[in-house]
Amino acid sequence: MKYIFVTGGVISGLGKGTTAAALGRLFVARGLKVTAVKIDPYLNIDAGTMNPFEHGEVFVMDDGGEVDLDLGTYERFLDVSLSKEHNITTGKIYQSVIDKERGGVYLGKTVQIIPHVTNEIKRKIVTAVESSGADVAIIELGGTVGDIESMPFLESVRQMSMEMGGRNGHRDCLFMHTTLVPEVGSVGEQKTKPTQHSVRELRAIGIDPDIIIARAERDIEQDIKKKISLFCNVPVDAVISAPNLPSIYGLPMWLEEQHVADYILRKLGLPLGKPELSKWEAFYSRLEHPKYFVDVAIVGKYTELADAYISHIEAFHHVGAETECRVNTKFIESEDIELKGAEKLLSASDAILVPGGFGSRGIEGKIGAAGYARESNKPYLGICLGFQCAVIDYARNVLGWERANSTEFDPGTPHPVIDLLPEQRSVSEKGGTMRLGAHRVLLEQGSKVASLYASTEISERHRHRYEVNPELISDLTSGRLHFTGRSEDGRRMEVAELQSGDYFVGSQFHPEFKSRPGRPSPLHLGLIRAAIRQKYGSV
Ligand code: GLN
Repeated sequence: MKYIFVTGGVISGLGKGTTAAALGRLFVARGLKVTAVKIDPYLNIDAGTMNPFEHGEVFVMDDGGEVDLDLGTYERFLDVSLSKEHNITTGKIYQSVIDKERGGVYLGKTVQIIPHVTNEIKRKIVTAVESSGADVAIIELGGTVGDIESMPFLESVRQMSMEMGGRNGHRDCLFMHTTLVPEVGSVGEQKTKPTQHSVRELRAIGIDPDIIIARAERDIEQDIKKKISLFCNVPVDAVISAPNLPSIYGLPMWLEEQHVADYILRKLGLPLGKPELSKWEAFYSRLEHPKYFVDVAIVGKYTELADAYISHIEAFHHVGAETECRVNTKFIESEDIELKGAEKLLSASDAILVPGGFGSRGIEGKIGAAGYARESNKPYLGICLGFQCAVIDYARNVLGWERANSTEFDPGTPHPVIDLLPEQRSVSEKGGTMRLGAHRVLLEQGSKVASLYASTEISERHRHRYEVNPELISDLTSGRLHFTGRSEDGRRMEVAELQSGDYFVGSQFHPEFKSRPGRPSPLHLGLIRAAIRQKYGSV
């Protein structure tokens, strides 16, 4: 297996994960098997306990891992399903080292960062990628070079590169460093100094970058590439311009034009080959040349940060390419709906999505959004909490159970239509204790969702503690509301549909996590198709 270690310099948030994932696509397009690992140097065991407002969406894997959103980018670009081992954090490393120390594994030794922590890091990287059978493993180190927290990880990958043949000999690995080339002044001069500094910092810890990905507002000019090459000790062909593009899905083609994949393959001693990108290009071209335009209101509480809902936004891109539709997502703060009313804030949108969420802030606004969609026949998709809100609205405003609620928000409600999962009652720890990961769902023959999935048996990812109260199901389904998806044992309600109306669907699971270019989330697809039909007539 060949390793590509991806580091970042100057500032965080440069999109090094996206660039690395797009590069990975170029290897996939050459018939290679690619896997990826994301290293997050924070002390949390996983992203599950992190606030989406600070850190963006918590991505969920098939095996229930709650991980960094970059893993979602890798899954989408590489078209693979990864597991929780592919997200390594300082928390996980320290937990295993301390467990080993307590278990007497290091008996007699002083346990130190080098070699015990670094060995554990190396072991976890190798274990994560080994079973994948991949030809190429992309190992992305989160944070920026120079951060105190990143040090043990950089040291570990430095050791790995030495063990894989050293600096001058045959190499089974290489280093790709992502930096920022800012533009200053009225003429927008591109400045290389920050790149020089971050490469110097990297070299001081014994890592010589093989490739520099220069992130910039605009394409990097040739003389700037030459300057970076000269100061940073990499050939000019290995300085790659990565400007802001209209869509990240154009990135593989942009990188291919600079022959970066061939450069890497040659360095790693892998056979060169022509990439088969025609499907990806067709996907991108449909995305960029829409016939239809719809606005979707995403009603949430982290609306200032698009990253908090990134898998939904990507799912809408996938749907957009499928339907030749530009899906403009508009974030609506659910608390604003409480103040100003749903109609005022949502009537201009062609469809409504209420995504997952936790906690009571803004909940009435979300319930109001579901109610507005139900009454006005505006296409509605509720995911997880959005599904629960649709059930609460129905109970309150159709069945007349005025104080119906989820016990998450009103433990004393006389109509607990949403209640804690029985197995959650004794759970007190927060991390990794929800109902998580892929579970099978049985869809009712003839339902809207079964036709969207073209199947009555599906597997989708979950992340929740509450569910539709099984005791109230017969009351809830006496009218227009039907539960058309259930867990295998039939006890858990997984999908709700309103029988009349254009599209009113809720799911307890999160179809956005498995949405891919060429294979969009069926439920997002249904939402946008309904919005296009309403806006443009039958298409
Ligand atoms: N808070 C709800 C629950 O725990 C919904 C979770 C979610 O939307 N991911 O069931």
